Amino acid sequence: MGFLDKFKEITNRVLEVENNIYNEKRDYLEIYERNQQLEKEIAERTSELHDANRRMLTLQHIWDMMNSSTPLENVMDAIVNSTQGELGYMHCVIIRKCVDEEGDFCRIIAQSKDNLIDRLNNIIGAPSIQTRRLSYSDNSIFSDTFNEKKIIQTKDLDLSLKAVLPQLSQEKITEILSNQPIKSIIVIPLMPREQNFGWFCVFSSREELAPAETDFLNLFAKQIETAITIADLFQAVREEAVKDALTGLYNRRYFEESLNKEVARARRQGTPFSVIGIDLDFLKKINDTYGHSFGDLAIKTIADILKSNARSIDVPARIGGEEFDILLPGIPSEGAMIAAERIRKAIERKEIDTIGHITGSLGVATFLEHTSNAEELLELTDQAMYSSKRNGRNQVTLAKSMSETSWQEIAVNTFIDILSKNRVPMAQRLSKELCQKLKDSIDEGENRQNALYMVADMLTKLYNPMHENGVVRSKVLMAVSLAKRFDLPKEDVDNLRVAVLLYDIGNLMISPGLLQKATPLTDDEKATIKNHPIIAAQKILKPISYVQDILPIIEHHHENWDGSGYPSKKSKDEIPLTSQIILIVDEYFALIEARPYRAKMSGRDAIEIIKSDAGKKWNTTLVNEFISLLEHDIV
Ligand code: GH3
Ligand code: MG
Repeated sequence: MGFLDKFKEITNRVLEVENNIYNEKRDYLEIYERNQQLEKEIAERTSELHDANRRMLTLQHIWDMMNSSTPLENVMDAIVNSTQGELGYMHCVIIRKCVDEEGDFCRIIAQSKDNLIDRLNNIIGAPSIQTRRLSYSDNSIFSDTFNEKKIIQTKDLDLSLKAVLPQLSQEKITEILSNQPIKSIIVIPLMPREQNFGWFCVFSSREELAPAETDFLNLFAKQIETAITIADLFQAVREEAVKDALTGLYNRRYFEESLNKEVARARRQGTPFSVIGIDLDFLKKINDTYGHSFGDLAIKTIADILKSNARSIDVPARIGGEEFDILLPGIPSEGAMIAAERIRKAIERKEIDTIGHITGSLGVATFLEHTSNAEELLELTDQAMYSSKRNGRNQVTLAKSMSETSWQEIAVNTFIDILSKNRVPMAQRLSKELCQKLKDSIDEGENRQNALYMVADMLTKLYNPMHENGVVRSKVLMAVSLAKRFDLPKEDVDNLRVAVLLYDIGNLMISPGLLQKATPLTDDEKATIKNHPIIAAQKILKPISYVQDILPIIEHHHENWDGSGYPSKKSKDEIPLTSQIILIVDEYFALIEARPYRAKMSGRDAIEIIKSDAGKKWNTTLVNEFISLLEHDIV
């Protein structure tokens, strides 16, 4: 091989080596570049994973809230704040589509807490965006999302703003949109159960929306829709529990709860509130003439009238079959009378299929004006309503305040309550007849007293056949005269009168055979009989709210001055003076009356016995006053 050949060979080999080196370098560069690419992809994937993770956590948080019966507003607040804060949007808002008599409008129901909104409010002035009536137009991005049932992203901020605030000037809109970071708005329709509920709006600093972002926002909107559905279902369940099925009015339980809340508020703030009681007139006749379904129709008609006459804070309720009550928070009696009269007229005016016209009787009572006791308020409403019935129906009556109510009214109403609610066992016919007599007498002064004494005598005869008509009246007169000698205040004297009519009513719950037994009683039998003051006070009268002051007088009318009496073995000044007065008057009348186990006594003999018990059953002062009374007034 010549030199040239050798040189060529060497050159070729050098070239080969160079080529190899070059190729390796290129490979290396390629690998390097690929590595770079991979690292970048890994970083991107990690960040996407991170985002996805955050979104999952946010969803998880919302899901937990929805499962813990958190109120819808709180769930909504959490949704907007986490979307804005954790997911990096500029602002998030949930808007509800509403409708009222003026038409469709929008209302913000949740909004992320960021300073964008303060800036907007500063520019638009009062009322703020949260309290403004926002417009809804069938021709906007908002209605488009409903029609297309999908997310719409827009960069046209100007148009979106005008859609909800059309009255805003162009200058203001320009001012709002200048110098702020938002580049696009994403509007996601909220359509739980195919209803056009509203929108979830997200304000982004980016112009474009990544596909994963769209998927996620859709997923998020589904969560909001589920939250709304759950809240609606809860609401429906709640409504079912508080509403009456026939009329859709509130039920008694809800009414009573509202009443208690209102009582607490009225006491705290010293402001009155009223209750209107309504009873349908002659419902029985409607049932009998046209059938029960027309009776129901009459009830529903009244319910509809009550609903349409009520303010949003009023509580119109069906309390019983044909009885309704409306609670009017914050309304004094004059206002309630006007409302009641409006209702009465509306009932009278309404023409009902087949039945024609119906009427109602109404009563009005006001808390803090007529009483400051919730139960009494309802009783007074009832009494006023019955007054309307008695005076010819189809009218409104204002209650009389508790302090103006005479002892006779209290006594008459107590007897009516006992008889009509069967608080003591007796023949239905007799209790109905007595009840009617009392009801008929209510508005007639003298007659009312006669009816009262007549009923009290009748009831006494049921457990004491020796009882004579007129004795209850004599007992009341004697007890009152005695009380006046002790200068007892009028209230105590009035309570005493009612107590004298009722103190032995517990005997109606004890078997007549035992009460009339001529032979000596066993200890058990004595104990049963001695229970009568407790039965009267705690069983029969306790549920009647307006006689509560009378209960202690009755409960202790067998306590002795020396502590040997019953049921509490009270002594001396622990015993109400009115109870002691009843004890001495009762004893006197018992002694001058015959008993199965002894003949009747003369007044003088009776006085001797009473005297001999001075210091034991009663104190000497009481005996002396009693004797002096008999000598001066009766004997
Ligand atoms: P008044 O004017 O004195 O109130 O006469 P009234 O007939 O309406 O009153 P009363 O209290 O004597 O009778 C009430 C009747 O209402 C008796 C009952 O059968 C009927 N009633 C109660 N609840 C319903 C109901 O839900 N539907 C129907 N159709 N009738 C009812
Ligand atoms: Mg009725």
